[in-house]
Amino acid sequence: MGDKLHQKLAIGIDLGTTYSCVAVWQHGRAEIIVNDQGNRTTPSYVAFTDTQRMVGDAAKNQAAHNPTNTIFDAKRLIGRRFSDTHVQSDINLWPFKVICGENDRPKIAVNLKSQERQFLPEEIPSMVLAKMLEIAEKYLGSTVKDAVVTVPAYFNDSQRQATKDAGTIAGLNVMQIINEPTAAAIAYGLDKKDSYDYERNIFVFDLGGGTFDVSLVAINKGDFKVKAVDGDTHLGGEDIDNRMVNYFVEELKKQHKKDISDSPKALRRLRTSCEGAKRVLSSTSVVDTIVEVDALYEGIDFYSTITRARFEELNKDLFAKCLEIAEKCLSDAKMDKRCIDEVVLVGGSTRIPKIQQLLQNFFNGKDLCRSINPDEAVAYGAAVQAAVLSGQGNGDLQGIVLRDVTPLSLGFSKHGGLMVVVIPRNTSIPTTMWVDNYTSVYDNQTSVSFNVYQGERAMAKDNNLLDTFYLTIPPEPKGVPRFRICFSIDVNGILSVSAEETESGSKNQMTIIKGKDRLSKEDIERMVQEAEKYKADDERCKKKAEAKNALEDYIYKIRAAVNIDAIGSGLSAANKKKIEDAIERASKLVDDQRLAEVDEYEHEMRELERVFNLIILKPSQDFDG
Ligand code: ADP
Ligand code: MG
Repeated sequence: MGDKLHQKLAIGIDLGTTYSCVAVWQHGRAEIIVNDQGNRTTPSYVAFTDTQRMVGDAAKNQAAHNPTNTIFDAKRLIGRRFSDTHVQSDINLWPFKVICGENDRPKIAVNLKSQERQFLPEEIPSMVLAKMLEIAEKYLGSTVKDAVVTVPAYFNDSQRQATKDAGTIAGLNVMQIINEPTAAAIAYGLDKKDSYDYERNIFVFDLGGGTFDVSLVAINKGDFKVKAVDGDTHLGGEDIDNRMVNYFVEELKKQHKKDISDSPKALRRLRTSCEGAKRVLSSTSVVDTIVEVDALYEGIDFYSTITRARFEELNKDLFAKCLEIAEKCLSDAKMDKRCIDEVVLVGGSTRIPKIQQLLQNFFNGKDLCRSINPDEAVAYGAAVQAAVLSGQGNGDLQGIVLRDVTPLSLGFSKHGGLMVVVIPRNTSIPTTMWVDNYTSVYDNQTSVSFNVYQGERAMAKDNNLLDTFYLTIPPEPKGVPRFRICFSIDVNGILSVSAEETESGSKNQMTIIKGKDRLSKEDIERMVQEAEKYKADDERCKKKAEAKNALEDYIYKIRAAVNIDAIGSGLSAANKKKIEDAIERASKLVDDQRLAEVDEYEHEMRELERVFNLIILKPSQDFDG
């Protein structure tokens, strides 16, 4: 396929906590793109070894052998502070190391060639995004630049900004950040957009690996208007797995008097087994299943069972929390359950039968919609929006309009620490709101600083501090300068703050300086360069692996040839030995776990070829060389 054809193709990426998915709008529909393993979703895993970096399936597959350098769940760190209680509790369960960097920012530390390397939380998702981009480019046969990336609806400003930065580091032009459940609603509503001529209320329930989101979307033809969102950025399948892991850790203590909690490797293997058991328990015909890990810890072969009932008991409060949040979303939208036309399930964890049952009861026995694939709907919707924004899709996507809301209230702290809300949660975005009548508090004051917070708590300090802003004002007696401050949220849900002088009547724009919480331009540039370096390293690694494979293949062929009687029997003992020696030398290089340089493989290959050709051409003549 020519580059021209795809010049304007934009992709949709669902950057999940556990799995990511990429799609593109083509031939009148969104297509989910399979990765190099043939899978439609790719684990959001990045792993490092002394010689190579792996992303996706390759990284996840080697996790048990390399637990401290295999990073997952990085989305749970993005845009958060190290001291955040969620971050602290996650760190206890993760086998990899997280340390406190500058400005209370968490950093992920991996050990490479006995040296520690540290990554900011944006860098790991940026590697996953780059992988998704690569998957798309390979499939489309051309370069792609533009993408719509999704985030949990309940992500705050810092988390959205950090996701956008991750896109930039990956070399993407992030056209828009959209909410995951909104994207799923598009996927659901697109087919049906012309079937109804009245507004329908869709309730999207998205329980994934790391996050939970609910969203109430009104669909009227192509108009997708979000009425309310709610959620928990720290509730998902991983928490459900944690419950089971903890349960078996306790059982091991009782059964074997062993505590495996400080063995990352044992925890990793137990977790994998628990996740498998959880999936088995989701098939309706099963009442119990086994959890089995050979040589789990100090020679113990662990074997146990878990019933569906026990599993549900362990997670009872997590499931209840999901329903509480659903309830809150409805009440925020001032809508009765009975006004919901359709309940759409998204995210792998909605396959759990108990969750489906609870949700169905909650909606008074309403059938849940199963027509869309819970793993793919988000990427599908993102690809639709990408096509809309880049003007693809011709008539099919005509009239599609997306109107989202901001999930959390924005404001600043007043004297006494009270939170003054400027933009209330569930306000349609983009939006701009002003705080009027700002003035100085002492004579000749030349600068004003204020802290901007996001959240619902009454005291500002209990909310998320986004940033500190500074404003320069002309020196005058106190109370004389008049200015107003403007809060704007763009379509990505990202805030910008500006100020305007109002005293003179002329609207002088004032410069606002942000604090240093966000990644600086220089930081991003450095990371972009590093990402490019990684890409080049990966490419080199791939070439080495290919050269190694080629040599290995050739060794097999020659071995087979020498073993064939017609050739083998014609060889003198001395020549046979020479070939065998050459094979042995080459095999040694191939058997080494570490990757050698491309020319080393090529050299061995040529050597083998030379010896083989000379001897085979004149099999009975002793050849020395
Ligand atoms: P995210 O978008 O957060 O990455 P996904 O929507 O891909 O998450 O869902 C992944 C989660 O779904 C994982 O925690 C996985 O264990 C869980 N999951 C997948 N299939 C099943 C199943 N059949 N039963 C229960 N949980 C499942
Ligand atoms: Mg998801």
